[in-house]
Amino acid sequence: MVERNKTRDTHLRFHELKSLLTTIFVNNGTAAETAEILAENCAGCERDGALSHGIFRMPGYVGSLRSGWVDGLAVPDATRLGPSFIRVDARNGFAQRALAAADPLVRNALRETGIAIAAIRNSHHFSALWPDVEPFALSGYMAITAVNGLANVVPHGGRQAIYGTNPIAFAAPVEGAPPLVVDQASSVMANGEVRLQALAGKPVPVGTGVDRDGNATTDPHAILAGGALNTFGGYKGSSIALLVEILASAVTGGQLSFENDFTGYPGAQTPKAGQFLIAIDPNWGGSTGFETRLAHLCTRLIDAGQDRLPGARRFANRAAAEQSGIPIAQGELQRLRTLAGE
Ligand code: NDP
Repeated sequence: MVERNKTRDTHLRFHELKSLLTTIFVNNGTAAETAEILAENCAGCERDGALSHGIFRMPGYVGSLRSGWVDGLAVPDATRLGPSFIRVDARNGFAQRALAAADPLVRNALRETGIAIAAIRNSHHFSALWPDVEPFALSGYMAITAVNGLANVVPHGGRQAIYGTNPIAFAAPVEGAPPLVVDQASSVMANGEVRLQALAGKPVPVGTGVDRDGNATTDPHAILAGGALNTFGGYKGSSIALLVEILASAVTGGQLSFENDFTGYPGAQTPKAGQFLIAIDPNWGGSTGFETRLAHLCTRLIDAGQDRLPGARRFANRAAAEQSGIPIAQGELQRLRTLAGE
């Protein structure tokens, strides 16, 4: 995980950062509604210290929009096919806008059937997954989501990239506490983290990835320049990457990670990725006092020695940013202002 840069020398309020990012999206061909959703997402990542998917990603969004690889004006088509199944064609737009279009249908299905699946295809996902599941937990539901991506991860024992970093996230409500939110790549390290390590000129830990010839390396540049990452946890993690690949691409009717082809779109960075989401109303399972039981479980985890709960670091960063603003280095802010045309 990338720590905040100690040289950050200015602080922005969330709404100030969101407004700046919205301008960048709109000025680069994004519909106002989509710009609002993406800016909220990206500013939220920066605020929460999810830095690999915060403002660092803005040039990538802009590159994809300017190249025509992604359609910032796309209006998703969300259809409820049956009691619980919502299918969304993002029409080559961003997955977050597609999920927003599915949201009312998902919530109707949850109320009526206790469960809802959103299967999003023809979409681009370039961010963290926690913003996609956390709102469901805040509404009392459990949600799980999976996204595939651009092939840059070798299967266990392999030498060729097959999977994306294939993140999976879940969230659940906890009585008297912030929700439990787990959000992780199924690669040893998220690609954004490797890029930040490369920018910082630092090696990555042993076991992170391979170079273009399939040989183990700790050089982030070698991993990024035709090499690939390993999955976490050996063959078991490799099977989680496989699960994500099947859910996010095959179940949704989206592309497999190795089918991404940016040729003809110089500057494009957002992988075309499917997204699968399942939301569950735990009350339908006959679990009385679900949130109370989760609070009990979380207490036991900490009592057992786990140093903190997943999501706790982000919530602490969020609370600090609400007090003092979001720390951003002057140079980074200037780069954003230039992208915004200021
Ligand atoms: P991390 O390894 O940093 O964290 C994974 C999860 O573990 C988080 O929920 C984190 O909580 C939790 N955690 C970390 N340390 C501890 C600890 N000591 N005790 C308990 N829980 C802990 O995430 P990754 O590097 O794997 O992924 C980073 C981001 O990259 C994710 O948001 C992911 O969605 C995103 N991503 C996006 C992709 C895309 O294509 N869109 C592709 C791949 C990744 P906390 O957040 O509080 O630190």
